[in-house]
Amino acid sequence: MSDKTITRFAPSPTGWIHVGNLRTALMNYLIARKAGGEFILRIDDTDPNRSKEEYVDGIKRDLDWLGLHWDRVERQSLRLEKYHEAAKELREMGRFYEAFETPTELDLKRKKQLNMGKPPVYDRAALALSDAEKDALRAERGNGVWRFKLLQERIVWNDGILGDVSIDGASVSDPVLIRGDGQILYTLASVVDDTEMGVTHVVRGSDHVTNTGTQIQIMQALGGSVPAFAHHSLLTGPQGEALSKRLGTLALKDLREAGIAPQALLSLMSRLGSSDPVELRTEMSEFVEGFDISRFGSAPTKFDAEDLKPLTARYLQTLSLEDVAEDIRALGVPDVHAERFWSVTRENITTLHDLKGWWTMFSEGAEPAIDEEDREFIAQAMTMLPEGEFDDSTWANWTSAVKEATGRKGKGLFMPLRKALTGQAHGPDMSAVMPLLQVVKARA
Ligand code: GLU
Repeated sequence: MSDKTITRFAPSPTGWIHVGNLRTALMNYLIARKAGGEFILRIDDTDPNRSKEEYVDGIKRDLDWLGLHWDRVERQSLRLEKYHEAAKELREMGRFYEAFETPTELDLKRKKQLNMGKPPVYDRAALALSDAEKDALRAERGNGVWRFKLLQERIVWNDGILGDVSIDGASVSDPVLIRGDGQILYTLASVVDDTEMGVTHVVRGSDHVTNTGTQIQIMQALGGSVPAFAHHSLLTGPQGEALSKRLGTLALKDLREAGIAPQALLSLMSRLGSSDPVELRTEMSEFVEGFDISRFGSAPTKFDAEDLKPLTARYLQTLSLEDVAEDIRALGVPDVHAERFWSVTRENITTLHDLKGWWTMFSEGAEPAIDEEDREFIAQAMTMLPEGEFDDSTWANWTSAVKEATGRKGKGLFMPLRKALTGQAHGPDMSAVMPLLQVVKARA
């Protein structure tokens, strides 16, 4: 076996992927890239009813957008035969058994156990069934589910984030790996794939810790080598509230549509929950260099989507006109004004979507904001606007003429003029703004 590092991101295509998934994808991606290894995109689509092609496409589009390029794609739905072979092996070694309890029966058993103060672990009643009893149950209820018989011993591993983890095999129910209708479940498929694809490192959410315990035993039963595991903490909202229900609104697709820059998202997610500060980074090589999974802690990690805005704003400030020329042209900004438009707006936007508002203001004019006491002053000043093209000196020339004529100075001079022309009390340098004010110019 080679010592090449191989990781995978294994989403189920049953919905749009969100920031929680991104944390998993990013960590696996960075581990592979840092080691010069391989990053596999594995589509966990053994559930034909819930898996949708549009989500597969969505996952690829999201990863592409973020620049998390995969070396190859695998699809579990194309590998079903492999899983059946593994199931056969497990059967032959006496580690796989058919069980026929209905969900109601299982529920009842759990309740009884809990009432008696016992952990609700499957009691393995099916192991005692004779062949004749199984035939009878099968005739009555259809095929049973297939459970993997866990060894009732401690399962231990050194987790890349959680440190030493130990799970008592006796405290976990024998996992169902094949459903009554024959559907292969994720646990079996995942073990077979991780083993066969030579996956060396698995990073996933801490909701998978128990799965890892059972998967280690299945891997060992099938003679596969056990990868290194790391389980990152789950994300919570800014107040520590569970995020699971809200993750639907934090889909990567929605963040993209809201104008969040991928660099902002990567900067936040590659550091959030670690002992290193969040810093804006723009090159993938910087994310790769700076990544160290041992810096991440096991405590729940607070995520606030608002944090993506200042990071996006700062990223936009690093862009040159060339980088945004297409966006600016699409707004209808004449090429002669493009450079000035970008230099005036770049520090006054949160996302590129904000450019539209600025251009509308410059090209169509703003609703003037004029205080009562400035009304006359503004009316007078407007009559003094120079004719012809506005340039960089227009503001200085005009305001000094207005100063001369009205005796106003400082804030009392500049602020009402700014508000009258732009509708806002704050904003870019007025000397640079003047040449962009199409309507004002036309009025002058
Ligand atoms: N399809 C599984 C999930 O989305 C993959 C978990 C794993 O990484 O093994 O939760």
